[in-house]
Formats: sequence, C-alpha cells, structure tokens
Amino acid sequence: AMSVRAEAVSGNGTTPKEFDFDLFCIGAGSGGVRASRVAAGTYGAKVGICEMPFNTIASDSAGGAGGTCVLRGCVPKKLFVYAAEYREFFSDAQGFGWQLPGQPSLDWPSFLAKKNAELQRLNGVYMNLLNNSGVEYIEGRGRLVDAHTVQVGDRTVTARNILIATGARAFVPPFEGAELCMISDNALEVAEVPKRIVIVGGGYIAVEFAGIFAGLGSEVHLVYRQDRPLRGFDDEVRTFAAEQYAQNGLHLHPLTVPQQLVKLPDGRLKFTGARRTGAQSSDEETFELEVDHVLAATGRRPNVGNLGLEEVGVQMTKSGAIAVDDYSQTNVQSIWAIGDVTDRMALTPGMPALPAALALMEAMALTRTMFGGEPTAPDHANIATAVFSHPQIGTVGMSEEQALAAYGNIDVYTSSFRPMRNTISGNPGRTFMKLIVAADSDVVVGCHMVGPDSAEIMQGMGVAVKMGLTKRQLDSTVGIHPSAAEEFVTMR
Ligand code: NDP
Repeated sequence: AMSVRAEAVSGNGTTPKEFDFDLFCIGAGSGGVRASRVAAGTYGAKVGICEMPFNTIASDSAGGAGGTCVLRGCVPKKLFVYAAEYREFFSDAQGFGWQLPGQPSLDWPSFLAKKNAELQRLNGVYMNLLNNSGVEYIEGRGRLVDAHTVQVGDRTVTARNILIATGARAFVPPFEGAELCMISDNALEVAEVPKRIVIVGGGYIAVEFAGIFAGLGSEVHLVYRQDRPLRGFDDEVRTFAAEQYAQNGLHLHPLTVPQQLVKLPDGRLKFTGARRTGAQSSDEETFELEVDHVLAATGRRPNVGNLGLEEVGVQMTKSGAIAVDDYSQTNVQSIWAIGDVTDRMALTPGMPALPAALALMEAMALTRTMFGGEPTAPDHANIATAVFSHPQIGTVGMSEEQALAAYGNIDVYTSSFRPMRNTISGNPGRTFMKLIVAADSDVVVGCHMVGPDSAEIMQGMGVAVKMGLTKRQLDSTVGIHPSAAEEFVTMR
C-alpha cells in the first residue's frame, strides 16, 4: 500500500513532472473503459485510452471499444443463447396446446445481421461513454516505451500512470492440424449453422457453445479430457449438468483429447480423437468424426505480446500474465494492470467467475486507489457466476469438495425436481439445487443451481452469501410461490 500512495500522489520523481495524461490506458475493454471513464468522470483526471479499430470479422487485431465481453464474448454469446433457446420453446409451446402453422425455421443470415447491428450499436455506446466523460480516445495498438511513455501508431504520449487492460485471447493446444480449428470469435460469425461440429474442451466456452449449436440444430460432439465437464465446479453439479447435456442430445466424449485434424476434399474436416480407456498411457482407443467445424474452447491466455513489457521491466507470473499486487500495481510503480491480462482469478481458490465483471470491480478499486486517496483492494471472495449452457448453471461460493476441505464439518442440502413448466410441456429437463452450510457457524458457504433461470436466481443468492447468509435466515424467509427459487428457502 505504501508504494500505491507514493506514486498516486507525488509522481515518480522528487520534482513534479508534467505528463500529457494522469492516466493512460492500453485497451478499451470492460476494465479499461470503466477505469478510464471513472478516473475522468468521477475524479476529474486527464485520461487517454487506446484501442484497435472495431472489426466484426474475427482477426488477430479485431479491436473496438467494448472489448471481448461486449463485442466477441459474453454479449453476442448470450444473443446466440437466446436464438438457440427458441427450438425448445416451440416444442414446449405445443405441450401447452399451441398449434404451430408449420415447422419453424431459422433465417440465420437475418439473425447474424441483427446481431452485428447490435454490436455496432454497443460499440457506439462505449465510444460515447468515453467521450462523455472526457476521455481522449486514440485508435491504434499501444506499446510501452518507458515507465511513463506509450507509443500508439506515430503518436507518443506520456502519463503519470499507465494501465494495461489488454485482456486475453484464445489458446489452442498443439496437435496435428490444430490450425484448422476455429475459436469462439469465429463461432460467433459462422456463415452457416454447422450440420455437425466437434467442440474441444469442457470449460465455460465449450459447454455454452455446445448448447448453442445443439439448439440451432447442429449435431454436437463435446470432446473433453476429464471424466465430466466443468472441472472446478461442484462434482454433483458437474454430474447433473452432464446428464442434462446428454438428454438434450449432446454427444459427450469424456477422457478424450484431440489427436489429428485433416481437411477433406469437400472442405469438411476429419477429426481424430483419442479416448483414454485405462490407467496406462497405452490404454486408449481412437475414433474419427467427419464434421463441418471443430471449435477449440481450450482456455484463454493473457494478451501480453508486443506491449514492450520486457523492455520496461514489468514482472510476469509463471503462467505468463502480468504480475500485480493486491492494488493492481505492477513492480514498476507507474504501471498497473487489471482484468484477464493479470489472470488473478486463476490464482484465487474457489470458482472461476465472469471475467468482465471482475475487470469492472478491479477498475473501480483501482480508480479509488489512484485518485480517491484510498488504497482499495478488489474483493475476489464469493463472486456469483453463471454458465449459459443448456441448462444454465448458477453458482456462488464453494463446491462441496472445497467446503469439506476448508471446514471439515458441513451440512449439504440438495433438491432435484421437474420445473413446473415441464410438467405440462413434456420437456424432460430437470432442475438441481444445492446448498452447502458450514455446520459450526450455520453460514452458507456454497450455493449451486442447474436448470432454467439459474443465472437470474443466483444473483440474489450472491448478494445474500456475500452478506454472510446463514441457513437459519434462509429458513425464516418466506418463499415466492410457485417458483423454482423458493426451493432455496425450503430445503430441509
Ligand atoms: P476454461 O479454462 O474454462 O476451460 C478450458 C477447457 O479446455 C478445460 O475443459 C480444459 O480441460 C480444456 N483444455 C485445456 N488445455 C487443453 C489441452 N491441451 N487439451 C485438451 N483440453 C484442454 O476456458 P474456456 O476457453 O472455456 O474459457 C476461457 C475463460 O473465459 C474462462 O476461464 C472464463 O474465465 C471465461 N468465460 C466465462 C464465461 C462465463 O462466466 N459464463 C463464459 C465464457 C468464458 P481441463 O479442465 O482438463 O484443464
């Protein structure tokens, strides 16, 4: 905290130095935009930000104010989820007596055009946010020249503080033909809905796109190296989710890694996977699938290339992220970093969380530290998160496995039921809910849900858990009837 105050108040030397900006930010994603506009708008700082031009076509330099979450992540993904959900709604509706005039069909180019128009609109909203708070926007890739200087194209700017908020990019593991894979950026603009697709990975992006493409009508093969998807989540949640995925028609390939990808003469791909069948490394069998696309959803890595970090002496973590202290400050006093480029959540025990929401919180803490005279560390504890797979998963706090290790003595409450809509719709989907309570203190340390509306329900539970919710308080709460959420207050 000492170093935080020193730089924020008095600059780098003994004599005050003039800079073009109080804060210059590299990267206009969730973290960069929030930090810049709060620094300028709330604290009256002189702020500049740089970002590459927005391009709706995925490329290595696709930029745009708004960043990954808004332009090629959470937001378009959720639009895809909505589009995909209609398949089920149409069939559910028939269970309630609705007669459809014919077989519903999806006008894919029309949806893509609407989605792109919405992204253009949002990019404009983010540009306005920067403009209206008086942040100077400079288009181009930023690179550190020294601890107070950034080069953006042919422009050189100086700043008392520099913030690196360059996010992350998809990582594709090396295997033969891996370069033929698409990544989620491409999946969000795929010209035709694939007839058949392999998705490699069992994390957030893999299960979300598996649900999306299945809903859009693709035959989806989910290939992952663990026995169940979503490593790190509560084991029972993982098992239940995998059962629901299979029931929704996903082809699950556990204990499987990609081995080879070959382009066929007709433009499709031949995917070879190797499935582990025993404990020995030789215990494996291979299988082949001919598909339209293979989507690699195998994690993301911090965007640290070409920033001049080594030259300026910024320390990195072992995993290749920018190393920061509790206040988002690097070892170079004038240089700070927030969001995915710091990879902090990966180091935090507990659940992975919505990364853009983390970046926002880190940005708020950072501006208060830098300009509010109050060193503030972002609080990474008990962050609610959701997976927009089909069905959705909402979660806050610890898995049963983590809680057992942390507290030893825990009470676990679970409930599994058919959501009311599905009693008549004929939809076989079920909901699963789970509470984990530290027995000695009665505090709810984990809360999980798989099923419709999980994301919406978990936000409120997240507030309660953050406030120190006890099981007794849940028991004294009157349920909203009939709802799925009320199950959380009636668990015995
Ligand atoms: P994740 O880290 O969540 O998952 C990566 C998956 O790829 C894991 O199943 C992992 O397996 C597997 N994998 C990694 N390396 C290999 C390899 N060499 N061979 C085979 N499989 C491999 O990453 P995602 O790409 O799904 O998402 C990136 C990040 O984006 C997430 O961590 C999350 O922060 C964020 N995100 C959040 C969302 C949300 O909150 N709803 C939505 C989308 C993204 P293993 O488990 O064995 O390591």
